[in-house]
Amino acid sequence: DQRPRFGTVDPATGQDGRVYEGHSLDEALAMTREARHAFEAWRQTSFAHRAGLMRKAATVLRRRQAEFADIMTAEMGKLRKEGLAEIEKCAFNCDHFAENAERYLAAEPVDLGGPRAFVTYNPLGVVLAVMPWNFPFWQVFRFAAPALMAGNAAVLKHASNVPGCALAIESVFREAGFPAGLFRTLLVPSRDVRALIEAPSIAAVTLTGSVGAGREVASAAGGALKKSVLELGGSDAYLVLEDADIDRAARVCAAARMVNGGQSCIAGKRFIVLKEVRAAFERAFVEAMRAYPMGDPRDEATKLGPLQSVKARDAIHVQVQKSIDRGARLLLGGEVPDRPGAWYPATVLTDVRPGMPAYDEEVFGPVAAIIEAADEAQAIRIANASPFGLGSGVLTRDLDRGERIAAGALESGMSFVNANVRSDPRMPFGGVKESGYGRECSYFGIREFTNIKSVVVE
Ligand code: NAP
Repeated sequence: DQRPRFGTVDPATGQDGRVYEGHSLDEALAMTREARHAFEAWRQTSFAHRAGLMRKAATVLRRRQAEFADIMTAEMGKLRKEGLAEIEKCAFNCDHFAENAERYLAAEPVDLGGPRAFVTYNPLGVVLAVMPWNFPFWQVFRFAAPALMAGNAAVLKHASNVPGCALAIESVFREAGFPAGLFRTLLVPSRDVRALIEAPSIAAVTLTGSVGAGREVASAAGGALKKSVLELGGSDAYLVLEDADIDRAARVCAAARMVNGGQSCIAGKRFIVLKEVRAAFERAFVEAMRAYPMGDPRDEATKLGPLQSVKARDAIHVQVQKSIDRGARLLLGGEVPDRPGAWYPATVLTDVRPGMPAYDEEVFGPVAAIIEAADEAQAIRIANASPFGLGSGVLTRDLDRGERIAAGALESGMSFVNANVRSDPRMPFGGVKESGYGRECSYFGIREFTNIKSVVVE
C-alpha cells in the first residue's frame, strides 16, 4: 500500500514548492476508525464544552492569521490580503456556531394533544468532507464548525494542490484542544474517496467542488445509502435592467465577477443586460474590469493575482477562444501574458450566445460574458436556462421589482439585489439543479448532519 505524494507549485512564479508525503488508503481508513472512536465520547459532551473549544479555534485562527494567508498564497495564489480576510471569516464562523449551535439544535416541542412529544437533533457520526482549493480555509470551516458543534467528528480530504492548508487546518483543531482524532486531515488522492465513503466508520459525506466530482460522490454515497450534501459549480446570472444605476451596476458586476480572481462558485459569470442599456453598461463595465490589473499577490495594492494553476488558466483561455471563434466579441483582455506562472487578465466578452462555452459552461476565472436580452421576461428565461442554480443578482433602481425577481423568478439558492452574492454563516448557502443539494450555514446547515429524531413519551 503505497503512500501518495503531493507537490505544490507557486502559481505566481511557476516554481515548485514543498512536497508532502500523504497517507495510504489503509492509513486513511485507520484514521476514520479513530475518528469514529473519538465521536463516541464527543457526542456525550455539552454544548458549553464544545463551544469553549470552538472559541479557542477562533483564537488560534486569529493568532496564526498571517501564517495561514501566506500558505494560501504560496499554494493557490490567493491575494494575501484576501487570505487574511478569509481567516477572519473562518474565526467569525467558529464564534457564530459556538454562540448559536445550542439554540439551532434545541429540542422542539410538538403538540400532539396528550403525550409529551418533541423533535431533537442527534449527531450522525464521522462526516467525510471533500473540499476545493479556491477558499481553502473557508470551505472547510463553513462545514466543520457546525458539524463539530452538532457533536459529529470529521475527516477532511482536501484538494491535492493545498496539502499545506489541509494540515494547517488540522493543527488549528489540535491546538485549540479538541480531542485527538476528532478532526483529521487525510492526504489522499481523489481515487480513494469512494472507498472512504463506503467505509463503515463514515456516516455521511459533504463535497464542495465540480459537477463531475459531485456525480461521483453522490453515486458512491447513494450506493452506500449515506447522506450527502453537495455544493457544486455555478454560472451565476446578474440581470441588468433598463432602470439600473449603470455605474453602480458596472461596479457590482465587476466585483461579482472578480471575487478570488474569478475562481468562486458564486462569482457572477453571465451578465444579462436589457438592450436599452447594453451600450452604456458595456462601456462602464469594461472600465470597471480594467481596474483589476494583474499584480503580485503578496502586494497589498493588487486586485488580481495569478489563477490557481497553469493548467486551469489554459483551459479558461480555450473557453475564451472558442467563444470568440463562434462569434463573441472581445472587449477587454483575452491574451495570455508572456511570463511564467498562471496569469490571465480581466477579460470581457460580449454578444455571447448559446453554443459558446462562455454561455453554456462555467468559466472559473476572470472572464465576464455579456448577453443581451430584449426585456425582463427574456432576461429571466436566459438566467434560468442554465443547468446551474447557485446564486443570482438583479440590478435595478426599483427595489420592489428587484425583490420580486430575486425572491420569486430566479432559479437559484441565493439572490441579491444591487449587490454581489456573498456567503454568511447567518444565512443558508447552497444551490438547486446541478449546483447541488443541501445547505450550509445557519440552522439549515447545522441540521444537515443530524438525525432529526421524533420522540414521544407517554
Ligand atoms: P474538483 O476538481 O471537483 O475538486 C474538488 C474536490 O473534489 C477536491 O478535493 C478533489 O480532489 C475532489 N475530487 C475531484 N474529482 C473527484 C472524484 N471523481 N471523486 C471524488 N473526489 C473528487 O473542483 P475544482 O474544479 O478544483 O474546483 C472548482 C469547482 O468547485 C467549481 O466548479 C466551483 O464552482 C466549485 N465550487 C463550488 C462551491 C460551492 O459552495 N457551491 C464552492 C467552491 C467551489 P483532487 O484535488 O485530489 O482532485
